[in-house]
Amino acid sequence: MTAYTFGLIGYPLHHSLSPRIHQQFLREFNLSGNYHLYPIPEDENKGQAFVELLAKMRKGELHGLNVTIPHKQNIVSYLDALDGDAEILQAVNTVYWDGKKLIGANTDVQGFWMDLSRFLHLAEGGRALVIGAGGAARAVVYALLKGGWEVVLAARKVDQARDLMKNYLQRFPGGQDSIPVFPISLETINTHQVERLGDVRLIINATPLGMAGHAQISPLPNDFSISTGTMVYDLVYNPPETALLKWARSKGAKIANGLGMLMEQAALAFERWTGKKPTLIPELLPILSEKDEP
Ligand code: NAP
Repeated sequence: MTAYTFGLIGYPLHHSLSPRIHQQFLREFNLSGNYHLYPIPEDENKGQAFVELLAKMRKGELHGLNVTIPHKQNIVSYLDALDGDAEILQAVNTVYWDGKKLIGANTDVQGFWMDLSRFLHLAEGGRALVIGAGGAARAVVYALLKGGWEVVLAARKVDQARDLMKNYLQRFPGGQDSIPVFPISLETINTHQVERLGDVRLIINATPLGMAGHAQISPLPNDFSISTGTMVYDLVYNPPETALLKWARSKGAKIANGLGMLMEQAALAFERWTGKKPTLIPELLPILSEKDEP
């Protein structure tokens, strides 16, 4: 039986839950294997490190790689091909070998969507407010657009939000104006000047605000108005209930943290590496929440 070797490249990695998640997946299928952390800083030697690890994949010594900050885009030019969402976003979080080629995939998009569908009837569509315009926002906004949603995208640098929209032009050949994303500055939210926010039924935090170390900080002002039917989804999962989620719960909103997305994207990666789809996700969530890791 194959003893699998998987790994994660990014920097820093000491906080990663991925080794524990993938060990659980291996256990579910009675498989043996290891999940290694490969911390690679954003410096001039990173290319050499990518080449060495990818050579191991080509030789079958490494059976799967995850990629995280700051390398999701850096790795693209070292791969033979990109599939689906990775091709559109030019960002990769999973590398697999298809027997002939090293393929880059982006399982964040589908992972986020699958987790969100546990809480909302997504097919109805609607308007979402996404806060933050970095790598995670790029995947989340794309998932929402594919599902037919409109997005108000709030960033502290509104140009960053406008730039993010360029990633979707391939899907919206009518040009930037045809993309249902409305970039605004985060400051504008704080001064309540945005009409479009009136009928938002989903709010997503895609900034690091609220993470352990900044746990008291919420991206929204306390007097921001939401209705009880609103869903508030925080991509941050440590602490399990961020300041934003505490506030949203106190307003009667539905809440979820990003642990479900983390699990779903990992399960999709595991399936590409082994051909087996983990089913233990809901049962695993409490296990992973037990340990207070960033
Ligand atoms: P990123 O690429 O660094 O982007 C972070 C975004 O947040 C940027 O738009 C940044 O704006 C903004 N931001 C940072 N500090 C801010 C502040 N004090 N006020 C307002 N905006 C601020 O990071 P990322 O990869 O998108 O990750 C964002 C968060 O999502 C992280 O907490 C990460 O752990 C989490 N995440 C979770 C999952 C999951 O599976 N649950 C997956 C991916 C990411 P500036 O450029 O102006 O700094």
